[in-house]
Amino acid sequence: MAVKGIKSNDRHIMNLANIVGDARSIVYHKEDLIAYDCDGFTLHKHLPKAVVFPKNTEEVAALVKYCSDHQLPFLARGAGTGLSGGAIPLNGEVIISLVRMKKLLSVDFENRRAVVQPGFVNLKLTNSIADKGYYYAPDPSSQYCCTIGGNVAENAGGAHCLKYGVTTNHILGLEVVLPNGEIVEIGANGIPDEPGYDLLGLLTGSEGTLGIVTKITVRILKNPEAKKTVLAYFDKVDDGSQAVSDIISAGIVPAALEMMDKTAIEGVEAAAFPVGHPKDIEAVLLIEVDGIAEGLDEQINQILEVCKKRNVREVRAAKDEAERGRWWANRKTGFGAMGAISPDYLVQDGVIPRSRLPEVLSRINKISEESGLRIANIFHAGDGNLHPLVLFDARIPGESEKALEAGSACLQACADVGGTITGEHGVGIEKREEMRFVFTDDEIIAQTNIREVFNPHNLLNAGKLFPMPGRCVEIKRDLKEKETVISQ
Ligand SMILES: Cc1cc2nc3c(=O)[nH]c(=O)nc-3n(C[C@H](O)[C@H](O)[C@H](O)COP(=O)(O)OP(=O)(O)OC[C@H]3O[C@@H](n4cnc5c(N)ncnc54)[C@H](O)[C@@H]3O)c2cc1C
Repeated sequence: MAVKGIKSNDRHIMNLANIVGDARSIVYHKEDLIAYDCDGFTLHKHLPKAVVFPKNTEEVAALVKYCSDHQLPFLARGAGTGLSGGAIPLNGEVIISLVRMKKLLSVDFENRRAVVQPGFVNLKLTNSIADKGYYYAPDPSSQYCCTIGGNVAENAGGAHCLKYGVTTNHILGLEVVLPNGEIVEIGANGIPDEPGYDLLGLLTGSEGTLGIVTKITVRILKNPEAKKTVLAYFDKVDDGSQAVSDIISAGIVPAALEMMDKTAIEGVEAAAFPVGHPKDIEAVLLIEVDGIAEGLDEQINQILEVCKKRNVREVRAAKDEAERGRWWANRKTGFGAMGAISPDYLVQDGVIPRSRLPEVLSRINKISEESGLRIANIFHAGDGNLHPLVLFDARIPGESEKALEAGSACLQACADVGGTITGEHGVGIEKREEMRFVFTDDEIIAQTNIREVFNPHNLLNAGKLFPMPGRCVEIKRDLKEKETVISQ
């Protein structure tokens, strides 16, 4: 039976429309599909075959089963804020958008957990339970719009993950539609140390390549009794980054320890939430401690002592919650703020041991000089999670390529000091080749073997996370498979 308002010569479009049941739940005209040709990583664009908007798990399962039975590539999409291209339909996928599955299903304050649908927006969870004195800890800077389903897929981090841990530390259970359409429950809803393999850990951060998450049980936390927030300004980047390392090695774990360099400060001060950072400063640390009110002053004093030893020029303490909020808005809108000083920017996401911050930041500076492109740094310093933002102008021929090269060189610099190529934004399309900076061919093959157990026909989000097929990994893998057949 045809769905009212849907006219297409493509039988798959008609059949997908039938599953979601109404014309407003499917997009298939080219002019509408353009809105879905990329996510927050805008350097690759591909049109999907269609975008469907299921309303419940059963519809997701039926869509997945249809795609699987008809060999149609497909992928999940949340808010599309991913920065590594995970939701880009490289192979003309059917996009299964989870944005209509956006309910808070239940909250259990006694056991400190909540159950949400995947399209539920991160910040809405904290806003929904704040009046009872609770919050959801993982706070990506995109939290006002990104979905918890997308957070699970990317194992999202955020400013307060230094003390409280990233998404994987807050996920207690998942309902997942496997790539054949089967619905499974993973995790024992918070019972510690469930027997068997840690499938929750495997699914969290699998970048939408193992299944589509349709329900999430998360841990919620009681609000800390008090918070104290300071800004510490440094005349030298090296002093600021040494202070970060010294604070942590002094045994202090702030709730958040963020850093911005001079170029980043120029951007945030030119954008929507300026706070009056000094114009001539080379680095600012945004430091927050929280917990029982008693003792917070002492922690702040200890931090200030460390900063003094590293020649801090000035320290400001937030006068009240309104000022603290403005400082956080200034920091959390930092990526977008680069639009105020550059037509385009590329965000990178490497991780390094904190003690190597000064060395890696100076290498990034060199990469900037060599490429002729400005690079701003705005990042979760306490975690050693760098975000070099390469500023460029895509209208100038060759500049996009230069930006990609500079971004890759920054990741190489992270890998060279024993760090890695992503802390929270995922590999997606963007960093597939850079996986070779940190994994051998055999290690990559071992991971694609795991993908195959869940996603044997590689119809779900193919071409993401691992180096391009046809390169040495896949060749080596084919050889291995042949060897196995011969030896059986
Ligand atoms: C301004 C800005 C600031 C950011 N700051 C941070 C930050 O501080 N920390 C951080 O970690 N990230 C940050 N990000 C990146 C991004 O917001 C996160 O990766 C977020 O988790 C993506 O969520 P989403 O709903 O937009 O997912 P999408 O972009 O729609 O999808 C991301 C990936 O998840 C998969 N996926 C989505 N939903 C599901 C599902 N239900 N089941 C299975 N797979 C799914 C997709 O296939 C894709 O591979 C930022 C992005 C922007 C634009």
